[in-house]
Amino acid sequence: MDTVTMRIGAERRASAATFESIDPYIGMPWATVPEAARRDVDDAVAAARAAFDGGAWSQLPGRERGRLMRRLAAVIDGHADELALAETRDNGKLLREMSGQVRGLSAWYEYYAGLADKIDGRVVDTNRPDYFGFVTREPVGVVGAVLPWNSPLLLLTFKLAPALAAGCTMVAKPSEHAPVSILRFADLFEEAGFPPGVFNTVSGASRSVGEWLVAHPGVDRVSFTGSEVTGMAVARSAASHLAPVTLELGGKSANIVFPDADLTGAVNGLVAGIFAAAGQTCIAGSRALVHTDVYEEVVSRVADRAAKIRLGDPKDPDTEMGPICFPGQHEKIRRFVRDAKERGAELVVGGGDGGLGGLFFEPTVIANVTNDAQICQEEIFGPVLSVLRFSTEQEAVAIANDSRYGLAAGVWTTDVRRAFRVTRALRVGTVWVNAYRTLNYAMPFGGTKNSGFGRENGTEALHEYLHEKAVWIETTGATRDPFVLG
Ligand code: NAD
Repeated sequence: MDTVTMRIGAERRASAATFESIDPYIGMPWATVPEAARRDVDDAVAAARAAFDGGAWSQLPGRERGRLMRRLAAVIDGHADELALAETRDNGKLLREMSGQVRGLSAWYEYYAGLADKIDGRVVDTNRPDYFGFVTREPVGVVGAVLPWNSPLLLLTFKLAPALAAGCTMVAKPSEHAPVSILRFADLFEEAGFPPGVFNTVSGASRSVGEWLVAHPGVDRVSFTGSEVTGMAVARSAASHLAPVTLELGGKSANIVFPDADLTGAVNGLVAGIFAAAGQTCIAGSRALVHTDVYEEVVSRVADRAAKIRLGDPKDPDTEMGPICFPGQHEKIRRFVRDAKERGAELVVGGGDGGLGGLFFEPTVIANVTNDAQICQEEIFGPVLSVLRFSTEQEAVAIANDSRYGLAAGVWTTDVRRAFRVTRALRVGTVWVNAYRTLNYAMPFGGTKNSGFGRENGTEALHEYLHEKAVWIETTGATRDPFVLG
């Protein structure tokens, strides 16, 4: 069994109380993780506060912050294999996917390192010759970050890289289902030479740890990635001390295939959209909307490919889908598929465990459902594709938008005019045309509607961690009427 600790200021902190992280492939615990007490959360926030208020990080010139962030990028690269393996052992996702993600992190830190010394303000024409007015942009302070289990370090990095560039400090709370990689990652900060307290971690199986952090009055901004229901609770807690919140929540994304599409590309995109990561991704294209002229062909080709997907050990490079992360999630997926069948949907392929038992769930395709079905409205977070039929472009857009979520969508067409029309009409944060599931540090990412608000990545994310300060300087020395505004 591996043992990990929290990072609070300069200290690696263990705890008398612990919990175990379970490897979903073997169904056995593999790491012992500290269960934070309220005092640990208080200490972590105090350490982050001290690094911020004392100026060790917030007052460091942007170029120096950038230099340390580039060192961190290099240190991450040096530990990529062990971090990726920790993620696979924690959440059961493919080692090749987690390795790709971890190896990609350095690009985020390098991109935001380049922005750290470009946080300029502006001079404002105040229409008052007796005043000089300017605006500076300053770091918001201590960030409380709460993370899910599906891509721990990547999703942490979406928050941490821009927050560091802005001059903020952070306390991060990893998911109880996949805490190890983030706790290990915190130790790399020391190796990269950061001042203590810039990045701190608290862990716990109890949801209270996240609640304490989000409700903590010493936290100036909350950044949350997770489910819709928890996001609402987080927003309420943060409101108790009026901390602004970024919410990156779930989705029920539509992947729309028009009859003029290159069907080979579209079928591949539908498979990538829902079966990659066993559907355990917020951007899962869980609703395929297929034009009636090509419906039968697309369903049959997706089902053929789904049936050939290789399930197995996520560490094996030939495996295409690993197990589901934890029993509650597995049970939820089974329940959705069972209910859909009972309500008359057609199970085209999948629905079982592929003969592997444990937490495996086969790639599953469900046809002949309508958009009002529960399976088309609720996020399943598993490898289950519902295929819906449409006849006109307007109908496709209406079905795609008929969701309380608005995270992402895919559009498959060779008609460039249609591509522009449809991308404009979709109420989502990201649209891919003839592609699915690409993202990087430069493109803003986030949701509309119940998929949340705020943006990660791109220069937009930097603004989440900065606030504007307006400065008026009186230049004449004249006194004025104290009872008049202006
Ligand atoms: P979750 O909401 O169950 O948990 C997320 C985190 O919140 C965990 O660390 C958990 O301990 C913590 N938490 C739980 N209750 C809390 C509370 N009251 N206050 C503060 N923290 C609390 O989500 P999950 O199951 O870990 O992750 C899956 C969900 O995340 C899916 O809905 C998925 O779509 C979403 N997600 C969204 C994005 C995105 O960028 N939009 C990315 C990945 C995952």
